Amino acid sequence: AKADGRNIGRFFDPSMQDAADRRAAFEAAMRDGLSLGQFRLFCQPQFDGRGRLVGAEVLVRWQRSDLDLIGPDHFIGFAEESGLILPLGEHVLKESCRALARWHDDATLGRLKLAVNVSVHQMRDAGFPAAVANILDGTGAHPEQLYLELTESVFAEDMQEITQRMHELRSHGICFSLDDFGTGYSSLAYLKRFPLSALKIDRSFVRDIGIDPGSASIVEAIIALARQFKLEIVAEGVELEAQRAFLIREGCSSMQGYLLGRPIPMAEFEHRYSASGIG
Ligand code: C2E
Ligand code: CA
Ligand code: CA
Ligand code: CA
Repeated sequence: AKADGRNIGRFFDPSMQDAADRRAAFEAAMRDGLSLGQFRLFCQPQFDGRGRLVGAEVLVRWQRSDLDLIGPDHFIGFAEESGLILPLGEHVLKESCRALARWHDDATLGRLKLAVNVSVHQMRDAGFPAAVANILDGTGAHPEQLYLELTESVFAEDMQEITQRMHELRSHGICFSLDDFGTGYSSLAYLKRFPLSALKIDRSFVRDIGIDPGSASIVEAIIALARQFKLEIVAEGVELEAQRAFLIREGCSSMQGYLLGRPIPMAEFEHRYSASGIG
């Protein structure tokens, strides 16, 4: 979602009539927020078919004050347009890798996969693979536990450049998931061209499993496709027991959604799921 003038305006003094003023103020506020540590990581748990915790997705929120928590749909688009996605994305990756390193010795948390959303703008940055390698070195996180989630919008960009960047990151041991699979520009030919480890079935298909036979068929087809390409499969947006049962029956390897656990602050996640009571 793009942070249009109206969206940004929600957070500012109505006397700022000029859209350019509002954008400048929003950008300044985001910069301040970054240096003040207001961008907080939340984690949403992911479970396998037997109900075991197997991973988590990191979702960023902007805590502007005690009472003001802003979701990513209100600032990621703007961060991408303004270039702030690069420092923001680096912050998210660094905190995620710190968590992986902190979790190493925990019997439960130490074997989780941590999925981090990455913008195509980060992937287009030639310095990105080296920056990620640096973060891994600096924190001691194991690259095999880090999954970078790309949306299908990568298909609209320079394929050559993105593919090369992916291979470079993959050579460091990092895994890739294709997010929101089935909604965008997806071209099946790219499935074999990209070094992918997982597909995420978009929430819109999961939502309609019991309602629309077409959606159930799409989910079945995506799972079969993932199997053919030896990819892990993650279903997102699981809200109902019937959806979970269907996904398990179809052999979906992992799932996340409000039924299984909402995104919660990382410290709370650690506290809730650690075997040894850290956090
Ligand atoms: P996404 O990657 O598709 O993330 C899943 C979104 O679905 C999250 O929204 C999550 O809170 C929500 N969700 C999870 N389970 C359920 C469910 O059962 N039902 C419903 N209705 N929703 C569910 P959120 O946290 O608002 O994030 C929105 C989007 O913002 C994400 O979509 C992702 O594209 C982007 N985003 C979040 N964090 C980051 C980040 O660190 N970097 C970048 N580049 N993008 C991010
Ligand atoms: Ca995601
Ligand atoms: Ca998604
Ligand atoms: Ca989505």
